[in-house]
Amino acid sequence: MPTYFHSTRGNADMLTSKQAIRQGLAHDGGLFVTDDLGNYRVDVESLQGGDYQGIARQILGTLLPDFNDTELWECIDAAYGSQWDDPSITPLRQLGDDYVLELFHGPTCAFKDVALQMLPRLMARTGYGVPDDANASREDGMRTASAARERIMILTATSGDTGKAALEGFADAPDTGITVFYPEGKVSEVQRRQMTTQRGGNVHVCAVRGNFDDAQSAVKRIFGDERIAADLASGSHVRLSSANSINVGRLVPQVVYYFCAYLQLMERNAITAGDEVEFVVPTGNFGDILAGYYAKRLGLPVARLTVASDRNNVLYDFLTTGTYDRERPFFQTTSPSMDILVSSNLERMLYYMSDGDSDLVDSLMGDLKHRGSFTVPSALLSRIQELFGCGWADEDEVSRAIHDCWEHDHYLMDPHTACGYHVMRMQEQAHERTQEHGSAKARVLLSTASPYKFPRVVGRSIGLNCPDGDFECMDALAQATSTEAPDQLRGLSDLPERFTDVIDIAEMPQYVIRAANTLS
Ligand SMILES: *Cc1c(COP(=O)(O)O)cnc(C)c1O
Repeated sequence: MPTYFHSTRGNADMLTSKQAIRQGLAHDGGLFVTDDLGNYRVDVESLQGGDYQGIARQILGTLLPDFNDTELWECIDAAYGSQWDDPSITPLRQLGDDYVLELFHGPTCAFKDVALQMLPRLMARTGYGVPDDANASREDGMRTASAARERIMILTATSGDTGKAALEGFADAPDTGITVFYPEGKVSEVQRRQMTTQRGGNVHVCAVRGNFDDAQSAVKRIFGDERIAADLASGSHVRLSSANSINVGRLVPQVVYYFCAYLQLMERNAITAGDEVEFVVPTGNFGDILAGYYAKRLGLPVARLTVASDRNNVLYDFLTTGTYDRERPFFQTTSPSMDILVSSNLERMLYYMSDGDSDLVDSLMGDLKHRGSFTVPSALLSRIQELFGCGWADEDEVSRAIHDCWEHDHYLMDPHTACGYHVMRMQEQAHERTQEHGSAKARVLLSTASPYKFPRVVGRSIGLNCPDGDFECMDALAQATSTEAPDQLRGLSDLPERFTDVIDIAEMPQYVIRAANTLS
């Protein structure tokens, strides 16, 4: 029985994992899920002694079964190679009584690299023009003469991190281009330079006059514009696609590092096989933490998954009250990648935790769209709360967390990770108040970005007098802490800026069409 993917909202289409990755989102607006999750287990002990790539082979093969062995190895070898500055890809470090799993050793120094180094490689192997044994029997009428030459233009609006990670992943990918829009003057100097210096013959980077929401809304309008889609399809055989975190091909690679963390705990004799562990996960879109849930369903002994939010604490409110309400003020914080009010991947969790009740999910998402909020039945909330904990930190708490962690443990962390650190300390205080014994289980904090991506916030938090420029600030941070700025970031100040276009929001469709025409 092959594994099929279908919408969380009940649309009856059944897709292979390749088709689900290529399509991204289901036609009814739902997210692709498979009911096979939980039917296949990964034997943790059998992974012992293996490397990250070997673990990835097991997990990807289990969750994306229509990719053959050769394809998976090609993708894994290319995605997790020398562009990572640590041989274990996601190294585990001890932090007091706890552990930190560092997910930021990839080319852009943020955890999105784990998924975005893989997604383009997977996507390149979903093409109908590239026949292969595994695909040959699954055409489902989708292979047509013109589709054989179809190219993809990835389109993204970014507030900073995602755009760069996507550019790096898709740079020079075959039959693919990528266009990234960022709000002029609203990203940091490091973030801007990361994008404007991007290498690759198929990349387009453009500043827009407006804020992130304006750019994001314009991108959504372009995706929804049938005339643009028809013109691009007939003219240059280009299909617009997105690299955002609802794609199955972004979610699945993230499951791997939960297993990798567990195996590293075993190697250190911090746990023995079968022991349950807890994870604390800085989350915005619910992507990172959902991967932990998938790991649990594959058999990883996970006792608890704790969501750590910033001041945009919509997930905290949901997990404590059962009501998700996006009608609230939006805060621009020092952890910009978690500044999110609509947490898209939550929908997959609701699907699985309700035992696949797509009618329920459909009606909840309808409520969210039309009324701005939804409330889950109390029995479902209780089930969710048994597994998912939550907490959040405001900016002062983030700053103090960075400071305290540096003072106590001599470990420098970024503002996103610091939200999680704060939440861990709150968990301990709660244990003390209730006189419960602190949980004896090993606890792992996922660290999602290098502190050097946010040198100003980190420097100020530990009491430095930060110089004006971001790069001078990196140097000051390095000197004060005897740590080293990653080359990928420090070296940016010497690279030439390739992209200097600044356009109005209204000019974005034309920009996309011109970029797409360069693909054919
Ligand atoms: C994207 C991002 C997050 C949040 O990830 P989700 O997939 O939304 O859970 C956290 N930290 C950093 C640095 C990020 O870039």
